[in-house]
Amino acid sequence: MVTSLRAPGGSKLPAYRYSFDWDAFYERYPLPDVFAETVFKWSPERIRALQNERFLEVMRVGWKNPFYRALWAEAGIQPGDVKSLDDIGKLPTYNSDDLKKDQHEHPPFGLLPGYSSLSDHLRTSPLKLQTSGGTTGKPRNTLHGITEWEWNSLGAARAMYVQGVRPGDVMQIPATCSLANLGWAIYKGCHDYLGVMPVTTGSGLVTPSRRQIEVAFDAGVNCWMSFPEYLLRLAQASKEEIGRDIRELKTKLITSFLGPDTEGTLRAQIEDLWGCPVFDNYGTNEVGEGAFECSHRNGLHFMEDAMYFEILDTETNQPVESGKVGNLVVTVFHRTMMPTIRFNLRDLGRLVSTRQCECGSHFRRMDHFLGRSDNMVRLRGVNVYPMACLPAVRSDPRTTGEWLCEAYTVETGAGPRDELIVHVEVRQDAGSLEGLKTHLQARLKADLGVSVDVKLTEQGKLDTVANIGEGKAKRLLERRPAYLKKQ
Ligand SMILES: [Zn+2]
Repeated sequence: MVTSLRAPGGSKLPAYRYSFDWDAFYERYPLPDVFAETVFKWSPERIRALQNERFLEVMRVGWKNPFYRALWAEAGIQPGDVKSLDDIGKLPTYNSDDLKKDQHEHPPFGLLPGYSSLSDHLRTSPLKLQTSGGTTGKPRNTLHGITEWEWNSLGAARAMYVQGVRPGDVMQIPATCSLANLGWAIYKGCHDYLGVMPVTTGSGLVTPSRRQIEVAFDAGVNCWMSFPEYLLRLAQASKEEIGRDIRELKTKLITSFLGPDTEGTLRAQIEDLWGCPVFDNYGTNEVGEGAFECSHRNGLHFMEDAMYFEILDTETNQPVESGKVGNLVVTVFHRTMMPTIRFNLRDLGRLVSTRQCECGSHFRRMDHFLGRSDNMVRLRGVNVYPMACLPAVRSDPRTTGEWLCEAYTVETGAGPRDELIVHVEVRQDAGSLEGLKTHLQARLKADLGVSVDVKLTEQGKLDTVANIGEGKAKRLLERRPAYLKKQ
C-alpha cells in the first residue's frame, strides 16, 4: 500500500503519514462504527465471497515470498492447485518452530518478511518490531508494516466498540507498551480510533496497584482493559490499601482475556467485585484481535473480514467436526509484511456456532481460548493442558484461583515418564483447609481424565513465577529435560 503521497516541503523521509494510502485501508477494513453496521452484519455468502477474494490475493503474495515458495514446493504444490478458499486444505500448515528455524537460518527475521533488505525497506516505509509473549519458550519476532501495525489497533478498536466503548469514555490500560502488542493495540485503538482517552499506566510492575487505583479515581476512568488475575488483585488492593470498594469507580465495562473460563466462574467473580460486565477476547502477536465477544457474550466472533480461522485436529491436522476442540490455524488477509497463510497457532479452540448471533452478525463464534496445545503434558497416555485446571481450581472458595503446573520427568524401568504437580494458592483467610486437597485432586482427576498431585501454597507465593500483575499468567513450569519434551 505504499503510495506516492508527497510530504510538505518536498521531504524525502519515509514519514508515516505520507507512506500509506489511509483511505484505501479504511475502505478495505472499515472503521469501528461503520464495521459494526456493515460487514459485521453481512450474510454468510457475502462474507465467504469476500474471504475468497482476499484469500486469493494473499496467495499471490505468498507465491512471491521465498518462505512460502520453499514450504509449498516441499509439499508439491504448484501455482494453480489452489483456486479458491475451498482448496485451502491442500496447503501445508506450519507453526512457531518453523518460524524459529527460518529466523535462525536467515537472521535476524528470516525469509518470511519477503523484503530483499531490511534497510532498503525502511528507506521507503516504517516497520515496528513486536514479539510474542514468551509464555511458552523464547519470544518470537514479528515485524509490522503500516497495514499490520494499524490493523493491530483498528481490530482492538472494533472489538471495544462492539462491546460498548464509545467516544467520551476514559480507558485505563494496565499493560506496558513494550515488545508485547497488547498495550499498544488498546492505547492506539482508544486514541486513534474511538475518541476514548487512554490512561496508559503500564503493568503492576510499572505502576503499583495502589497508584493504579488512585489514578483511576482521579482521572474519571470508566473502562478497563486488563487480565483477570490483575483485575482481582486491583479489587483487593482498592479495599485493603485505600479503603474504597472498587465498585465506587462505577466502571461501565471491562474488556479482558478470560482464558478457559468455560463455567463462567471467573467472569462472575470479576463482575461481582467490579459491578460491571466483562467481555472476553482472543488475540495473538501475529493476527492482532482474532475474536471478540459482542454484547450478547455467547461466543467470540472471529474477525472474518481480516482473517480466516480453521480448527484442525491436534494429531491428524485434519478439520475437526464442528464443536470439537482442535488447534486454531489462521490465514491473515491484512498481512503482506510476514504474510500468514495456514499458520498453526497451537492455541486450542472450539467452534460454538455458525448461526446468526442475537446481535445480528453471522461471523462464526468460538468458545473461550482453551489453552495451548504445545503446553501439553502427556500423563499416562492422556493429554493434559495446564489451562484446563481453571474450573477445578476455582471450584473451592478457599483458593485464590491461582495455580501453576509443574511438569517433571521420572525415570522408570520402562523409560522416562512425565508427572505433574498442580500448585494451588490458598487464601490467607481460608480458615480450615480440611478436605481441600482431596477435593481438588478428585475434581482435577474428573476434569483432566488422569490423577495429578496437588500441593497447596500460601497466597501470593505464585506471583512472581506465574507472572501475576505483569500480564498474561504463566501456568506451566517446565522441569522436563528438553530432549524428552514431546511436541
Ligand atoms: Zn454477536
